Amino acid sequence: MKITLLTGRTFDFGNDFDFDVKIVKSPLAKRLTLRIDDKNRRPVLTVPKYCSRAKALRFLQEHHDWIVNMLARLPQPQHFDDGSVFEFFGITYTVQHIVGQRGAKFENTVLKIGGDPEFLHRRVTDFLKQQALKKLSAMSVKKAKILGCRVSSVSIKDTKSRWGSCSTLGNINYNWRISMAPLDVIEYLVCHEVSHLKHPDHSAEFWQTVAGLCPSYEQSRHWLKVRGKTLYRYI
Ligand SMILES: [Zn+2]
Repeated sequence: MKITLLTGRTFDFGNDFDFDVKIVKSPLAKRLTLRIDDKNRRPVLTVPKYCSRAKALRFLQEHHDWIVNMLARLPQPQHFDDGSVFEFFGITYTVQHIVGQRGAKFENTVLKIGGDPEFLHRRVTDFLKQQALKKLSAMSVKKAKILGCRVSSVSIKDTKSRWGSCSTLGNINYNWRISMAPLDVIEYLVCHEVSHLKHPDHSAEFWQTVAGLCPSYEQSRHWLKVRGKTLYRYI
């Protein structure tokens, strides 16, 4: 096993499975603990203040099988190829690579895309991000209008820490992967962010506003909490 710490140091244990480990030093931790960061697909080792490097490495080595198992259970990253099927704003599409075509377009339930097959994945992702921005902008403006509020700008981010955010100036950001969630979940997120135009907090009044826009929001919120991480397979 070869372990590469995020500091760049590598430790070789002479086994055939390699992975990167993020080390978190915590003065509050009482013992060594290991978890899997499923968004970044890597193990995270929390190390207490007084713990030797040798002990930490031994701990990792002892948990080798557990780590391999847990990493194997993560959803496989979605790589877009000719024939790939994916969900986008509640519609199931199939990627069709067309030699000689320029650009990309949706036609019924087919995403037709041209260009060099080698860069297909990247071009599909870029196209979907562009489309996501258009759709999320339109949805945000529409929902904000119901509240009598104005959206200053909408942008999409590749962040792995949150699904969306809304600044006091009315700038809304979305994680583009939300486009692959079920439609009612996307709608909930939009309602959530535009409700921040009225309430910059998560107060009871805020949740009342969300409920007014999206009566079944609790179900979608739950989906995002439990299933949301599966959307990180879109890389
Ligand atoms: Zn919020």
